Amino acid sequence: MRKKLFIGGEWIEGTSYQELTSPYDHERLGEIPMASVEETKRAIESAYQTRKTLRILPAHQRAEILENVSRLLEENREEAARLICQEAAKPIQTARTEVARTIMTYKFASEEARRIKNEMINMDAAPGGEGRVAYTVREPAGVVAAITPFNFPMNLVAHKLGPAIAAGNPIILKPASQTPMSAYFIAELFDKAGLPKGALNVITGKGSVVGETLVTDDRVSVITFTGSPEVGISLRNKAGLKKMTLELGSNSAVIIDEGVNVEDIADRLVLGAFAYQGQVCISLQRIFVHETLKEQVIDAMKERASRLVYGHPLDEATDVSALITKDDCNRVMKWIDEAKEGGASVVCGGTQKGNVVLPTILADAPLDSSVSCEEVFGPVVHINAFSKWEEAIEAVNNSDFGLQAGVFTLDMKKAFQASEELEVGGVLINDIPTFRVDHMPYGGVKKSGFGREGIKYAIEEMTELKLVSFKK
Ligand code: NAP
Repeated sequence: MRKKLFIGGEWIEGTSYQELTSPYDHERLGEIPMASVEETKRAIESAYQTRKTLRILPAHQRAEILENVSRLLEENREEAARLICQEAAKPIQTARTEVARTIMTYKFASEEARRIKNEMINMDAAPGGEGRVAYTVREPAGVVAAITPFNFPMNLVAHKLGPAIAAGNPIILKPASQTPMSAYFIAELFDKAGLPKGALNVITGKGSVVGETLVTDDRVSVITFTGSPEVGISLRNKAGLKKMTLELGSNSAVIIDEGVNVEDIADRLVLGAFAYQGQVCISLQRIFVHETLKEQVIDAMKERASRLVYGHPLDEATDVSALITKDDCNRVMKWIDEAKEGGASVVCGGTQKGNVVLPTILADAPLDSSVSCEEVFGPVVHINAFSKWEEAIEAVNNSDFGLQAGVFTLDMKKAFQASEELEVGGVLINDIPTFRVDHMPYGGVKKSGFGREGIKYAIEEMTELKLVSFKK
């Protein structure tokens, strides 16, 4: 099917097209417009012209539009899941989970639209401040440009469209080139949901053309980017004084203390490492386990990982499918080989079937090898032992990234120590780092980015705080 650009509330034929195929078997899925600089600028102008309309749209109407999107998605949930499954090679069961989360994300956005809070300021707390009534107002920041990755093509888009509309900002969405269908599908729902024309614009095309035009245009006030550190950092360097949120990559870790019941946590460890074949920004990549439990963790994970079924993403039984590109398969296999040469032993996996890398567990990978210190973004996890708690915390922190970390311990003192000392945006005690619900604050430190998502927090990033003071 030939898709059209969504600009100014109209579906517009593109000037140039590219074929979209499935990452699993290269089945043809459609033709996608590759927007030019001119088409991108047209989308920016359309959003810019709509900012006053949105600014005065009352909170209850913004909330209702978002509630409508949530309801429409609920009514079309299976179609949505199949789109994600086909274009991203996400196993259908996992795709359904993403749709369920997306429905919630728009619900949260609808609720948050109604409760954007202002604050009274006691000016007389400072000498000379007497005789004034003052308060803050959160105003929409202006045109938001959202650039999104392939791995959660519906829910991560919702984490940008939801707060932008809740806050009263028009938006231009540039989805990943491999996953445009989900974005156009959501645009259709917004159109039906009663969003003013021009408030949402969806344009597909090359990151280097569309993305760069968005980032350098003066009419855009906010850039919200989720993707790789390389692209995020390059955008930051071009964005000037625009507000910016960067949600980037990670090599997330978990620490397992002595005394933990391995059977209780093994399913979670396997889920964290291999869900959507490890292509999750908080995928579990590094396991640091107390030396007394190392063999138990290896055995429990091996047994569960070897039961995972690989195959076509639309097959109900599939747990693991193709990586997003052949290049990614080759890269992941090369990194596994590098770890083996450095002394790691392969507990399971370590091989490839077509574009599927089988779930791979490595024991004793060198901590300076790519599978440990780079972001693998594939189904690979390594297990290394520690003897002292401080050593484990140091190993987790010895990373360029800092998104989330998990900690399993029965010792409250160690749990608090980890929560204070781990250099990450979120510490999950007695859980894997891969845990996320959509209203919690979420984001990283170091090369994992800055700014926070989670609707309420993203609204803060997309609004300007204004002070109003009345002298009596
Ligand atoms: P990516 O290659 O960085 O692409 C992300 C987006 O940026 C895509 O829309 C891409 O467009 C666009 N882009 C590429 N080059 C650009 C440029 N020069 N200027 C402007 N935009 C450009 O990332 P990905 O492979 O899709 O996603 C995987 C990465 O995202 C991983 O690093 C993962 O950890 C990260 N991620 C982070 C989070 C989080 O919340 N922290 C969540 C999910 C994913 P094209 O597709 O057209 O190239």
